[in-house]
Amino acid sequence: MIEKIIYSPASYEGVDAALKLISVYCRSAKKINIGKSVLNRKIDAIKIGDGENIVLYAGCFHPIEDLTVNLLLKFLWELSKKYESFEHIAGINIRNALEGRSVVIAPLINPDGLEIRREGPSAAGNYRSLIEGITNDTFYWNANARGVDINHNFDAGHDILKKMEEAEGIFGPAIKKYGGPYPESEPESRALCDFCRNNNVISVSAFHSQGEEIYYTYNGDIPYRSTLIAKILSSFSGYKLILPEGTASHGGFKDWFIKEFSRPGFTFEIGKGENPLPLEDLDSIYLKIYEALVYGIIL
Ligand SMILES: [Zn+2]
Repeated sequence: MIEKIIYSPASYEGVDAALKLISVYCRSAKKINIGKSVLNRKIDAIKIGDGENIVLYAGCFHPIEDLTVNLLLKFLWELSKKYESFEHIAGINIRNALEGRSVVIAPLINPDGLEIRREGPSAAGNYRSLIEGITNDTFYWNANARGVDINHNFDAGHDILKKMEEAEGIFGPAIKKYGGPYPESEPESRALCDFCRNNNVISVSAFHSQGEEIYYTYNGDIPYRSTLIAKILSSFSGYKLILPEGTASHGGFKDWFIKEFSRPGFTFEIGKGENPLPLEDLDSIYLKIYEALVYGIIL
């Protein structure tokens, strides 16, 4: 059943069912809630381990990058089983390696956006007419229910980002790239920030697609140990490390996390090709990256 969900097109209901099943099957995998979306859909996660130091993995900020949901569910399922049975994963006894630590994996940060992309404006409830005013073809929908791009809504150079948006002709709710009226204006981004503020989160990884790249800096800031960890993740996956030149990226989750806490934050751009990446790519992407995913939680 879980396997079937992992290999089906990502959906809100699929994620909900998979997280429930994993938490039932593995006693040490606990389902937790991080917050709610604009349309009151749950942003849930699985927490493995009971250490106070938390490593957070988050996926699907952008609905068109929904293969990140499948990837994180697949990893979560594998990790939960191995943790539960004291088995090795990527050559590591994960139960021992996670002593003092917890892993929190939230595969779907933007549930409204995903459902709008899948079902069209009818999935947007009270915001249906707003979506229809922007587009009726939601195949490339990359924002939340209010037309805000979640990964442009964090408090890291939001004013600079705003100027960049306006230079591209984006002044309000849009299919992508609109950063919202102010940082954390959206419940999805605020929920993630609150989670980081209220817990001892020692590192985060945000999952996007595509490009086979890893980003690990913000605006010239490179937190202690970040370069070492990034090099290890890169050597296991073959993903390229990217140091942005000139105007760095702004407004993203890892940008905010690095700026706010000076702790390691990473963006993985999974896979290669054109978004949305096809489901058929899941196994090859997983094979290439799963060791890096394991090292990402223990380093
Ligand atoms: Zn993205």
